[in-house]
Amino acid sequence: MLDTLLELQTRDTAIDRLRHRRDALPERAALESVQTELGTMQQQLGDATARREDVAREEQRFDDEARSLEEKAAEVERRMYSGEVTSPRELQALQADVDQLRRHRRGLEDRELEVMERREALDAEVSELGRRAGELEAEAGRLAGALGEVEGEIDGEMAVERSARDELAATVGAGLLDDYEHCRHRARGMGAARLNGNTCQGCHLSIPSVEAERIRKSPPGTVAHCDNCGCILVP
Ligand SMILES: [Zn+2]
Repeated sequence: MLDTLLELQTRDTAIDRLRHRRDALPERAALESVQTELGTMQQQLGDATARREDVAREEQRFDDEARSLEEKAAEVERRMYSGEVTSPRELQALQADVDQLRRHRRGLEDRELEVMERREALDAEVSELGRRAGELEAEAGRLAGALGEVEGEIDGEMAVERSARDELAATVGAGLLDDYEHCRHRARGMGAARLNGNTCQGCHLSIPSVEAERIRKSPPGTVAHCDNCGCILVP
C-alpha cells in the first residue's frame, strides 16, 4: 500500500511538472508581448485616423468655400456682361467685387494647399501604422497557433498522467490518501518519499538513525512522517 503511494507521487510530480511547463510556456509570454505592442499600435492608428479625418474635413471646408466664392464671382461677371448694367461706375464697382472675391478665393486655396499637405502626411502615417498593425496581427495569430499546439500536446500528456493517477488513487484507502494529499499540500508537492538509509528522498535531509530504524522495524503499513518535510516515509 505504501509503495503505491510512491507510484502515486511519481504521477503527481509528473502532473505538477506538466502544469508548470504549461504555465511557463515561452510562446505565451511572446504572444502577450505582441498583443501589448499591437494594442499600442492600434491606439496610435486610431489617433492618427481621427487627426486625419479632422484635417480632411478642414480641407473640404476650404474647398467648399473657395468654390462658393468662385460661383459668386462668376455670377457677378455674368451680370457685368449681360448688358443689364451700363453705368461705367456700376461696372467698375462690379469688377472690384469680382477682384475681391477672387483674391479671397486664392487666399483660401493657399490655405487649402497647406492643409492638403498635412493631410497627405497623415495619410502616409495612417497607412504605415496600418501596415505595422497588420504585421503584428499576423504575428499574434502565428504565436496563438503555436501556443495552442504546445498546450494541446501538454494537455494530452496531462490527461494520460491524470487517468493513471486516478486509477492508482482508487486503490489507496481514503484515510491514507487524505494523509498523502495533506502532506503534499504542506511539503510543496511531496506527499510520500522513500526512506533511503537515514535520508528522506523527499527533502534529502537525514532523520535520526534511531527513528529510521524504528520505522523500518514497524509492522508493514505503519505510517510514519519525515520530521523535516512532513511527507509519508516509505521504508
Ligand atoms: Zn523529508
